[in-house]
Amino acid sequence: MGSDCIFCKIRSGAIPSEILHDNDACFVIRDIQPKAPVHLLVIPNEHVTFVSTLGLQHDAIMGSLFRTAHEAARREGISGTGYRLVVNQGPDAGQAVDHLHLHVLGGRRLGEMG
Ligand code: AMP
Ligand code: ZN
Repeated sequence: MGSDCIFCKIRSGAIPSEILHDNDACFVIRDIQPKAPVHLLVIPNEHVTFVSTLGLQHDAIMGSLFRTAHEAARREGISGTGYRLVVNQGPDAGQAVDHLHLHVLGGRRLGEMG
């Protein structure tokens, strides 16, 4: 656990937050500043910081992250209309929380990226 990590604190219950779904690999919360009608975060239980630090040992967790994202989208009713998955890596992408996470955005027609 990252001792000063907001997502680790949410996972442990130190910071109260509604956990929509969780499993052995990851958990799902609503983004506090939603950029779309549905904006979820799928977060590994393990304090993995960046895409750049991923190793072979994380392959199963990453697979679960994507499957959990689709399941969360289905529960929100947007799996049919579609959604966007985003991972920010580093400063140019604006990564604000150094605990890797998948954004799930949907519920409206999304604009072009970039
Ligand atoms: P990123 O820029 O990819 O690091 O995204 C971090 C995201 O975490 C931002 O979209 C924030 O709005 C979101 N966030 C930060 N703190 C919280 C929190 N306590 N609960 C839910 N979402 C949060
Ligand atoms: Zn963390």
